[in-house]
Amino acid sequence: MAATRIDGKAFAAELRQRIADQVAALKAEHGVTPGLAVVLVGEDPASQIYVRSKNKQTVEAGMNSFEHRLPADATQAELLALIGRLNADREVHGILVQLPLPDHIDEAEVINAISVKKDVDGFTVANAGRLATGQRAMVPCTPLGCLMLLRDLLGDLSGKEAVVIGRSNIVGKPMAALLTAESATVTVAHSRTVDLPAVVRRADIVVAAVGRPQMVKGDWIKPGATVIDVGINRTEDGLVGDVDYDAVAAVAGAVTPVPGGVGPMTIACLLANTLTACCRSNGLPDPKGLVA
Ligand code: NAD
Repeated sequence: MAATRIDGKAFAAELRQRIADQVAALKAEHGVTPGLAVVLVGEDPASQIYVRSKNKQTVEAGMNSFEHRLPADATQAELLALIGRLNADREVHGILVQLPLPDHIDEAEVINAISVKKDVDGFTVANAGRLATGQRAMVPCTPLGCLMLLRDLLGDLSGKEAVVIGRSNIVGKPMAALLTAESATVTVAHSRTVDLPAVVRRADIVVAAVGRPQMVKGDWIKPGATVIDVGINRTEDGLVGDVDYDAVAAVAGAVTPVPGGVGPMTIACLLANTLTACCRSNGLPDPKGLVA
């Protein structure tokens, strides 16, 4: 039987609607509007597209969007000064610095200057540490989106064998931390893993976050497994994931397509994190169904 195609686009649309409803209630009951500040340095075309679509979806959810564009030759000091102002701004609940930054900027220093409470990307060392130690954190958007899809499809993840391929700070590591917190048995595979197909064959849940077109093959997959494809690879044939979709879908229980799977969940989770940050900064309970 062919695998279920996990419709991340539809799930994300429904998630954005739930966020918009909670934003409206927050405004009506507490007179507060969540605000997201996005900082873009330079003219990177892909970054400009991402920032535009973040801005549009933020406004559509009823939140304030503050865009800050700095020239490519902006200094580290200018960027840090801007982040200092945004940290102090009471209308700004979330701050996102669009990556990559130009080479002359110390990315880690800039990210770690963001207030832990406003770090809606969850990239600061403080939030990564909180997530790793099971404390209340802002969780990186892409793995949060993957977790929401997995919970929706499978319910309880406890005791499941999960293999995360990739160990980056923005996807692989936080994904592994989230699955561990769900009591899955987690293996993190990476470029030095020996016999990756055999490792992946153990998994009830596979999350592929590598950046290699269609690397995960059908005969790597345990029958009935759930496969989440985070990869975004631009090829001559268009956009493809890290998973060989057709071959994997013939074996798996469920698979996310690329495009239309994890991608749309990422921005929806950015909006979710902004709402969460706003609720927390106002001493209100976390919004329903939007946190890890
Ligand atoms: P990264 O380059 O930082 O990390 C890639 C990881 O893959 C590394 O940990 C590396 O060890 C591992 N790897 C490389 N070659 C391997 C191999 N042959 N076998 C096993 N592991 C191997 O990448 P990233 O930032 O984690 O992103 C991964 C992919 O996800 C990219 O395609 C990226 O575009 C995509 N991505 C998508 C979203 C989204 O919103 N859907 C968000 C972030 C990243």
